[in-house]
Amino acid sequence: MASHLPYDHRKLGRELDLFDTDPLIGAGLPYWLPAGAAIRHALEEYVRELERKAGYQHVYSPVLGKRELYEISGHWEHYRDGMYPPMTVGPAADGRGSRGEDAAGQVVLRPSLCPHHAVMYRSRAHSYRELPLRMAELGGMYRAELSGVLGGLTRARSIQLNDAHIFCAADQVRDEAAAALKMIRQAYWSLGIEPARCRLSLAGPSAKYVGSQQLWDQAAAVLRDVLQGAGVAYEEEAGEAAFYGPKIDVQVADSAEREASLSTVQVDFYQPERFGLEYVGPDGGRHRPVMVHRSVVGSLERAVAHLIDVHGGSFPPWIAPVQLVVLPVSDAQRPQAEVLVDAAIEQGLRAEMPADGSLGARIRAHRLVPYQAVIGAAEAKVGEVSIRLRDGRKLPPVRIAEALSQIIRHVASHSPELWPAAP
Ligand SMILES: [Zn+2]
Repeated sequence: MASHLPYDHRKLGRELDLFDTDPLIGAGLPYWLPAGAAIRHALEEYVRELERKAGYQHVYSPVLGKRELYEISGHWEHYRDGMYPPMTVGPAADGRGSRGEDAAGQVVLRPSLCPHHAVMYRSRAHSYRELPLRMAELGGMYRAELSGVLGGLTRARSIQLNDAHIFCAADQVRDEAAAALKMIRQAYWSLGIEPARCRLSLAGPSAKYVGSQQLWDQAAAVLRDVLQGAGVAYEEEAGEAAFYGPKIDVQVADSAEREASLSTVQVDFYQPERFGLEYVGPDGGRHRPVMVHRSVVGSLERAVAHLIDVHGGSFPPWIAPVQLVVLPVSDAQRPQAEVLVDAAIEQGLRAEMPADGSLGARIRAHRLVPYQAVIGAAEAKVGEVSIRLRDGRKLPPVRIAEALSQIIRHVASHSPELWPAAP
C-alpha cells in the first residue's frame, strides 16, 4: 500500500508558512508559524476530545526529570544514546560546586513520558475499581538525534508527543489495546491518511530487551490477538520492539518512501515492576498493574509532516489553517463581509477577509482555503451568500446564518471530505 506521496513537507512547509528552522535556534528544533500552529492546535483539540470521550484523564508533567528516574525506568541503561547529556543544577551535594559528578542531583531532558506517568500513578493509592486508569498527556520530549539526520519536522530533537499510559489489570490489556487501535483507525479516517503498513514489533537477539521471555510472549500474543480481531493485515518484525515490551506500530511513508512509526500500542510489564506499581484487588491484596503505552497520532511534528506529504496544502476542512475566506466583490460589500467574518470567528471558525486585489486574484491566492464566500451586490441586498468549495463546486446561495451553520456542522464532524455528499 505504501505509495510515493506527491508532496515534500520540508519544501511545502516553508512555502505555505507552516514551520521553519533557524540555525540560531538550532538544527532539529523547528518552530511553528501561525498557519502551522493553527493545524497543530486543531489536531491537539481533536485528539484531546477523542481521548476525553474514551475515558482518558489528562495530566501535565515536567519535561525534565532526575537521572535516577530514568535509571529506574531502564531508559538510562537501554536508551542513553538517544538522550541528552545530564545537567548538574546548582552546587553538588558535597558543597564544593563540582559539576557533572553528583549523579543524584543531575537532571535530564526526558526521552519519553512513561516514567513521569508511572511515578504519578504511584503517588496515589489505587483500587481495582479505578482500573483501567487512562492517563494522557500531550507533552514535550527530547531526542539527541545526530545533526546529520535532522530535517524538517520528521527528524527533530524537540518533539511534542500525543501520549497516554493505561494502567490496568492483566485481563483488561486486550480490550484496552483493541480500543486504542480502534481510536487510531478513527483518527486516520478524519485525517484522510492511510498507514503504509502495520507492524507487530518484537524483541530481537540484542541484549537491550529486558524482562522474562514468558512475559514477552504473553504480551506479543495479546497484541497479535488484537490485530487479528480487528482484521488488520500486519507483519511481524524482530528487533523493532521497545526495550520494555512488544508493540503494534502503525507505519507511514514519506514522499521519499522512508518509513516511520506514527502511532503505536505497546504492552509493558517491566516498568510497573521497576516502579513498584500496585493496586488493591477485589481480594484486598496488592497486585501489579500492566502499562499499555499508546499514541494515536504520534508526535505532532511527524503527524503534521505526514499531513503535508499527503494533502499538500489542501487539508481536510477541520484542520485547514484558514477555513473560510470572505470575498466581497467590491468595496460596497465590505461591511457585510466584515459581519460574516466576525460571526464566523465568533462561532469558532478560522476565517479572514483578504485586503485588496481583484476578485480573481483574491480567489487564486486563497485557492487552498476549503470555503470561499463571495458576496456581490445581489447577495448583499438579500443577506445571502454563495459558498464556493476549494474544488470549484459552488453551493446555492443561502442566508448567511444558514451558510455558517452548514459549514460549522461539517467541520465539527471531522470528516476528511470537503463537503457532505448529497443525500
Ligand atoms: Zn510510554
